[in-house]
Amino acid sequence: MTKKEGGFLISEEDIKKRVKELADQISKDYEGKQPLLVGILKGAFIFLADLIRELSVDAEVDFLAVSSYGKATETSGEVKILKDLSESVEGRDVVIVEDIVDTGLTLRYLYDLLKTRKPASLRICALLDKKERRQVDVPVDYVGFEVPDLFLVGYGLDFAEKYRQLKYIRELTPEEVKNI
Ligand code: 5GP
Repeated sequence: MTKKEGGFLISEEDIKKRVKELADQISKDYEGKQPLLVGILKGAFIFLADLIRELSVDAEVDFLAVSSYGKATETSGEVKILKDLSESVEGRDVVIVEDIVDTGLTLRYLYDLLKTRKPASLRICALLDKKERRQVDVPVDYVGFEVPDLFLVGYGLDFAEKYRQLKYIRELTPEEVKNI
């Protein structure tokens, strides 16, 4: 992780390395099992795609789509399910895969929701964690990087649907926010 002239940046190389480390840990923890990775759309789709290809255990995939910030950069605290899971999670070893934990409101809601559906186990894997912003407690078992309180884009993370395709993660400057 580096802070360059252009602002905060996590390079493609650093992401690759850390995703592999997370996948190795998950593979170890779920040895002999077949976890169901639940990706939170849209932000987690790239992370999930890279993570699953580094796993050495068989895994299945499902997706949940939740309402996002839209054009604002602050969470409203309201979570709306736009697309629910396509399969039951009862009796499954579920790993929620999320791009970033900020206030924790989204994951707290989703964790509690999935818990009511009686999975055999339920864990959370988040690529980024803005720990200092947390408003509610949420059990994050696997964290890629702890990041400062900046608005980040790239590697699946967007601002007004832009920047998702970047291979690295970087800070979006207030100047750039203004110009969109
Ligand atoms: P929370 O409910 O934890 O406050 O927010 C989680 C969601 O907010 C994430 O899934 C993500 O969609 C969005 N979010 C939080 N921080 C950032 C950020 O720095 N950049 C982007 N693009 N989205 C963020």
